Amino acid sequence: MLIAHRIELRPSAEQEAYFRRACGTARFVWNWALAEWNRQYEAGLRPNAPALKKQFNALKYTEHPWLKDMHRDSHSQPFANLRKAWGKFFDDLKKGEIAHCPVFKRKGKTRDSFYVANDKLTVGEKQVRLPVLGVVKMKESPRFAGKIMGATVSRDGTRWYLSLQQEIEICWLESVDRRSVTGVDLNVKEIVCSDGKRYATPRALKKAQKRLKKLQRSVSRKMEAQKQRMGLAKPDRIPKGVRLVASRNREKTSRKLAELHRKIRCIRQDFTHKMTTSLARENQTLVIEDLSVRGMTASARGTVDKPGRKVRQKAGLNRAILDVAFGEIRRQLEYKCAWYGTTLVVAERFFPSSKRCSSAGCGKVNHALTLKDRAWACPACGTHHDRDFNASVNLEQFAALPGATGKVTPVRYELGQSGGSGQEPNAQICARFG
Ligand SMILES: [Zn+2]
Repeated sequence: MLIAHRIELRPSAEQEAYFRRACGTARFVWNWALAEWNRQYEAGLRPNAPALKKQFNALKYTEHPWLKDMHRDSHSQPFANLRKAWGKFFDDLKKGEIAHCPVFKRKGKTRDSFYVANDKLTVGEKQVRLPVLGVVKMKESPRFAGKIMGATVSRDGTRWYLSLQQEIEICWLESVDRRSVTGVDLNVKEIVCSDGKRYATPRALKKAQKRLKKLQRSVSRKMEAQKQRMGLAKPDRIPKGVRLVASRNREKTSRKLAELHRKIRCIRQDFTHKMTTSLARENQTLVIEDLSVRGMTASARGTVDKPGRKVRQKAGLNRAILDVAFGEIRRQLEYKCAWYGTTLVVAERFFPSSKRCSSAGCGKVNHALTLKDRAWACPACGTHHDRDFNASVNLEQFAALPGATGKVTPVRYELGQSGGSGQEPNAQICARFG
């Protein structure tokens, strides 16, 4: 199984300068390759990544002599990345999903990173040997043993990270006493489980909102001032190719803003990782809803002719949903369930987990239930329900529902690798109903 594993680096000032140049190189080559791809495509040719790379290699040192100072991985990997990006685009098109074609990378707007091939780096205790640079210090030692397949150096705010792609053998990680089936209801404020556990979401974005707003305003004020100093009128957009002169104060504030964003991400990640690990460890089967985050967070803005209603409220709700990172929780559960040999069941999208009465033998669907009703009494059997807990119990029952199993066919994805610890490999990661 391939895992990615990220460790913070402690580069010297000189090493950091090289990192920045290598990221710039990767971005430059990507943009060159994409522009050339588009040009050839429009000319009726059929561009491909290896041919583009050959073309680039023929001219790179004469036209861009500065590339000689950079390790070749940083200017050869973008071609492989571009091929992957186009591949994904066409795959998504074929599947009828929303497809995004590769776009140009802009300095400061895209994630800064560059690739290092596995035979070019040596990882030790708290240090890594990288090409050109030599030894770079790491803040911690690698947490996994396994063949390194490749690595990426990337920047997040003011910090640098080494992300190792490693092939590890699946061995079931040790789990504790396990409950057989648990339903998990995902909400904005709380994650509620059918065993009675509740996890309050940290809502990091919401809590930082005020400080975030202040910093954002401060950065944009400094940009406006710079624009005016350069003779641009207030409503004017910055013309293409023109770069605002960076002021030291603006840089300082932007750094603070990036640092705050990073902190918000860290708080969120810390919560989702701890929660998904304990869920995957402490249960044999987990049942979650098949939430469509994209559908749930659609804008309410509407069109000019038909403006939407309650746009601000909906934007707030969208922010709250994205703050909990439902998609990330699902992604983590999928791979962690594989680690612990737990079966993950995703209930079909239209299963009425909130509106159904979970009392034994009842199962009445209460169509009158609205989002506001946090508690309700079943019109058929009179049982009082806590909305979220009832939903989690319904999800638990979903796995064995006679009505539901009739019309759904479970598809199981086999991992196909046996366990290293001698345990029976229970390798279905995700049984998907639909
Ligand atoms: Zn009932």
